[in-house]
Amino acid sequence: MKTAVLRQTFLEYFRQRGHEIVPSSSLVPHDDPTLLFTNAGMNQFKDVFLGREKRDYTRATSSQRCVRAGGKHNDLENVGYTARHHTFFEMLGNFSFGDYFKKEAIEFAWTFLTGDEWLGLPKEKLLVTVYASDDEAYDLWHNGMGVPADRIIRIGDNKGEPYASDNFWQMGDTGPCGPCTEIFYDHGPEIAGGPPGSPDEDGDRFIEIWNVVFMQFNRTADGEMQPLPKPSVDTGMGLERISAVLQGVHSNYEIDLFQDLLKAASDLLGGADTEEASLRVVADHIRSCAFLIADGVMPSNEGRGFVLRRIIRRAARHGNKLGAREPFFYKLTAALVDLMGEAYPELVRTQAQIEKVLLQEEEQFARTLDKGLRLLEQDIAELKGSQIPGETIFTLYDTYGFPVDLTNDIARERGLTLDYDGYKKAMEAQRERARAASKFGVDYNVTAGLGGSTEFTGYEKIDGHETIR
Ligand code: ATP
Ligand code: MG
Ligand code: MG
Ligand code: MG
Repeated sequence: MKTAVLRQTFLEYFRQRGHEIVPSSSLVPHDDPTLLFTNAGMNQFKDVFLGREKRDYTRATSSQRCVRAGGKHNDLENVGYTARHHTFFEMLGNFSFGDYFKKEAIEFAWTFLTGDEWLGLPKEKLLVTVYASDDEAYDLWHNGMGVPADRIIRIGDNKGEPYASDNFWQMGDTGPCGPCTEIFYDHGPEIAGGPPGSPDEDGDRFIEIWNVVFMQFNRTADGEMQPLPKPSVDTGMGLERISAVLQGVHSNYEIDLFQDLLKAASDLLGGADTEEASLRVVADHIRSCAFLIADGVMPSNEGRGFVLRRIIRRAARHGNKLGAREPFFYKLTAALVDLMGEAYPELVRTQAQIEKVLLQEEEQFARTLDKGLRLLEQDIAELKGSQIPGETIFTLYDTYGFPVDLTNDIARERGLTLDYDGYKKAMEAQRERARAASKFGVDYNVTAGLGGSTEFTGYEKIDGHETIR
């Protein structure tokens, strides 16, 4: 089944079960400064769940465009390394606003996945998790759907703190929250990775395809869990992941849509192998960049625009690694429009603008990319130990416009790490110099570098360190 057909099949399945088909909202969250980019189907329904907003339906379904390249969910560092993570993906979802609850939610999901007239997946390839103390969900899976006990995994509060587990969802420190149940697909023993809850659960053998959240409690400021009068359901399934399952391939990058995109990227990059990690990064990044620009984000040195700039520069660097010596990334827009323009007409409408913005960014970065890479290579060649010095990271950032995550990306390929503390010190020293200079009325331009030194209070952490912006 083609990805485009699968998207429609999902929506149609839930439409037949009384759900309103709601279009995807923008990647730029409407009226929510706490959220960097739309990262889940439920975002646009947040106020409906909280009872602050009424709609004329109590069941909805959508295919939501999402970006996870910053903020709470940041998968940027996973792209090119796992089979299942993208910066941009589509989340299929069904939602109950105080309408149905656990029983129907579980039945709906199971019938869609395993029903003969729907996806018809083999049941023995599926595994489910429930929240450790959620006996109700366990019973619905076991006795209701007939899932054998050895394929139901209870996941508890693994971090030792109450409600910190992966399987207990909460919108924030207070507010609606509740247990999850997840459905995993087993891609087979030849792939490394353990079942959910095991020490090597981050491998790619058992891939989480669907996450179902039961919004059941309201958590008050003093930690009390009050049952919600009308519990709700929020679900999310990655379109690319379920597509991979149906197309009998392991990696998201092997599905029809990505194969076409990779082929187009390969043609632009002198025939690079479509299994090459760098080519996958490029194919992934064109989707987030194009959709972000279509939704009105512009590259800049702060906030959302800086995340976009970082993704574009990362794509440019991976293209460079594959031999590109002139702008190529913007040319991939046409292929993406061919593949996704029907589902997302805004992409067609904004194609010229997307190409223009990408080309401009590529041209600007091209002026310093080579020099920066040479500087870094030289430093690496002279390196004692396995840590890239803070001064180098800072110079790359300030003079050559290398966002820190880009330098980290290169370091990681060589098994090296970054001296973040040294980097922060170098940044601080720069600021001191600027302050001193301005005191004496000297015209000292702190934002001279392409990366710009303008700091924004960021969303980002890499390896537990704030990255700077
Ligand atoms: P994982 O544990 O694999 O990182 P997640 O638990 O972070 O996934 P959720 O927040 O539960 O993901 O999102 C709901 C669904 O969206 C997931 O079950 C998965 O199918 C899909 N999904 C999540 N993140 C990504 C991503 N970066 N790229 C593609 N699909 C994703
Ligand atoms: Mg995740
Ligand atoms: Mg997960
Ligand atoms: Mg999940």
